[in-house]
Amino acid sequence: MADAAQATGGAEAPVLDVIDLKKHFPVKKGLFGGGNAKVHAVDGVSFHINQGETLGLVGESGCGKSTVGRTVLRLLNPTEGTIKLSGRDVTHLSKQDMRPVRREMQIIFQDPYSSLNPRMSAGDIVGEMLRVHGMGNGEERRTRVAELFERVGLRKAQMDSFPHEFSGGQRQRIGIARALALNPKVIIGDEPVSALDVSIQAQVINLLMDLQKEFNLSYLFIAHDLAVVEHISHRIAVMYLGRIVEYTDKKTLFTNPKHPYTEALLSAVPIPDPRLKRKKLVLEGDVPSPINPPSGCHFHTRCPYAEERCRVDSPVLREVAPGQMVACHLR
Ligand code: SF4
Repeated sequence: MADAAQATGGAEAPVLDVIDLKKHFPVKKGLFGGGNAKVHAVDGVSFHINQGETLGLVGESGCGKSTVGRTVLRLLNPTEGTIKLSGRDVTHLSKQDMRPVRREMQIIFQDPYSSLNPRMSAGDIVGEMLRVHGMGNGEERRTRVAELFERVGLRKAQMDSFPHEFSGGQRQRIGIARALALNPKVIIGDEPVSALDVSIQAQVINLLMDLQKEFNLSYLFIAHDLAVVEHISHRIAVMYLGRIVEYTDKKTLFTNPKHPYTEALLSAVPIPDPRLKRKKLVLEGDVPSPINPPSGCHFHTRCPYAEERCRVDSPVLREVAPGQMVACHLR
């Protein structure tokens, strides 16, 4: 796959550079299935994120975007490819060598309730990160946790409360404080606002944007909905069945999308100005199984423009306009 980083990057070295990443999971077929199959969850994905920048990673559920996040963090071992953090190849680091690297890359999960230990106080949940990484004594850690609570919009007095005593939005603030505790460079948000009410989503996104400015953070912001990533992202990568199909800056993606799948995702996003019109493309059917993805262009089973060659040849992600990478034979 083409190195998308070359086409859309600035001059500075990216803080996160992901090159041709693959993650396949072996699955046992049924009793009479014969042989082992593989889930091609991530199938050759390349992107980069600069310091202080947000890359939105978007696609329907099951497209592999969360697996990208977990593999980049090395919570899953990649099948192939390279992950570089501040220029350092971390793809094959041992568990022990990954420990200091983990300080620099953190994650915020989708469901703040299930990701917080219900038996620990909120203060202990955030302080646990500092304790595990041997930072400060008990008193110093408590002071740092209190600072983090205030920074994410919680009260110091809430440090002794337990997760069930908080609202959904507050619980996600605890998750953000925990992710911030070690002063990371990169935060991966795995659908961090999808479980929240729309009004709370906006508050959490604004908080993340304020924190980005203050700490020069880089975000990989994963979501299934383009409307959610629109506000926070500088650039956006659209994923379909394990591959990036379009990758460009936010403005270009929203005003001049080139991939039919991006058009379909955009059709579901409301346009605030009624004078503006956008081509409507409604997708039918579900994402096919990644165990046996369609041949050629993975999207051909749902694409209204599909031609014969789409069933045979897999389109390469290539630059079709300055800074706009698209994987489609017709663009
Ligand atoms: Fe549709 Fe063919 Fe383009 Fe795939 S390559 S998106 S099937 S037109």
